[in-house]
Amino acid sequence: MKRRPQRCKILASLGPASAGPALMRQLVSAGVDAFRINSAHSTHADIVALARKVRRVAHRLQRPICVIQDLAGPKIRCGTLPNDQIEIRTADLVTLQPRKESDTPSIIPVDCPALFKDLAPRKTILLADGTVCLRVQTASAEEAVCRVVQGGTLRSRQGVNLPDLEFSGGAVTQADEAAIRSALEAGVDYVSVSFVQTRRDILRVRELLGKEPGAPGIIAKIERPQAVDELDAILTVADGIMVARGDLGIEMDIARIPAIQKRIIRRARAKGRFVITATQMLESMTRETYPTRAEATDVANAVWDGSDALMLSGETAIGRHPVRVARMMTRIVAEAEREETYRGEDLKKNAPVTALAHAAVDAAVDIRARAILVFTHSGVTAARMSQRRPPLPVFAAVPTEQVARSLAIRWGVEPFVLPPQKDSADQIGAAEKTLLARKWCRKGDRLVLVTGSQPLRGLDYTVKIMLAGSTDSARFHDSLTEKDLLP
Ligand code: PEP
Repeated sequence: MKRRPQRCKILASLGPASAGPALMRQLVSAGVDAFRINSAHSTHADIVALARKVRRVAHRLQRPICVIQDLAGPKIRCGTLPNDQIEIRTADLVTLQPRKESDTPSIIPVDCPALFKDLAPRKTILLADGTVCLRVQTASAEEAVCRVVQGGTLRSRQGVNLPDLEFSGGAVTQADEAAIRSALEAGVDYVSVSFVQTRRDILRVRELLGKEPGAPGIIAKIERPQAVDELDAILTVADGIMVARGDLGIEMDIARIPAIQKRIIRRARAKGRFVITATQMLESMTRETYPTRAEATDVANAVWDGSDALMLSGETAIGRHPVRVARMMTRIVAEAEREETYRGEDLKKNAPVTALAHAAVDAAVDIRARAILVFTHSGVTAARMSQRRPPLPVFAAVPTEQVARSLAIRWGVEPFVLPPQKDSADQIGAAEKTLLARKWCRKGDRLVLVTGSQPLRGLDYTVKIMLAGSTDSARFHDSLTEKDLLP
């Protein structure tokens, strides 16, 4: 199995442009580590079939590939408009009604009766990717009359955003509950929750997913101003978060998005949650063969901000050049990572595993180790290593495919499954053999070995220094002398 030299991971959204196994294989070879299945555009059968296809591709390529299922959440859209498009003029009055279609340009159909319960005078309604702005004047269960603050063109099925309104029903809809049942049957690794408002939304999904070991993890998509305000509370219950810049850039002033991206990434990393930066990263490549300078710079900046992973959306789901765009992203990430500026800052060592991760990174840097070898049962020790952003590979020996896949989205972690051995010496020997066989390190390379709690009997919370393949596994540590370690 070939090593993946880039540390920042790539998540590709699946869609008509990428749903076949051959394309998935090419995407993985181009640097993709994780796939996103969009519940909004998939039936139960599609979700299960797509997840199985990814598993088969992963098995064939011998790579742990993470599958994330995206819940649509309470995404509101307008219905069918006369001639599929209307012009809305600034200062006019328009009426929103809970229906599927309209043949009058002044009546905008919005097929979401629940919304009309939450609307109130002076609330803002944004349409057409935020380019059309309405202010509610009167609202009832039957209709909302609005003044047009900023006019523009509105097309059928475009999104409706309500930045200053908390959805009383929460972020998890009935359709999401059905999608969660599909996620469980498909055995996905994470579920991403759209339009999260508070930690309660995450707790609700957790309840539906169950808490057994191996249940999918949860990614909170930060795309509402309420979620930005509640970020710290959301981070205490989510496994990872996504800077979902598409809707966030509609619901909040777009000029604030770059700073908010940095803030979200910093806070997530400080809490040890992984963070995905998403949307329009290489958008122009949905059609073109080459990105804009601004897009290339955006990808590099997201790496330097400290993202664990970057997401491709329409670029791989419906784009013309899905593989080319993945290759381009991999190249930009690789170049960005050559720069010193991407290194992480120090983190608070207030937990044993974090302190251990720090000690291991410091030791590895000091002795110019080739790599860190982490033995981790649940993945948490490898996650803490990743949180520290060490300037050398982190190879994570894990007990199951499921733990390997859950780590595949984490910055700099290269997981591999290692079946349990008789004792800790055999376990270390087997890991060492795997690294040598895969050419992830060479005989005589310095390795720093880390174990969290429990993975190796008798070696809990340990940092050790060893030379790869220099001894039989049982006596590896006896052979190491000060001379071996001199830089
Ligand atoms: C976003 O809004 O940026 C986002 C990632 O959400 P979606 O699922 O709509 O792409």
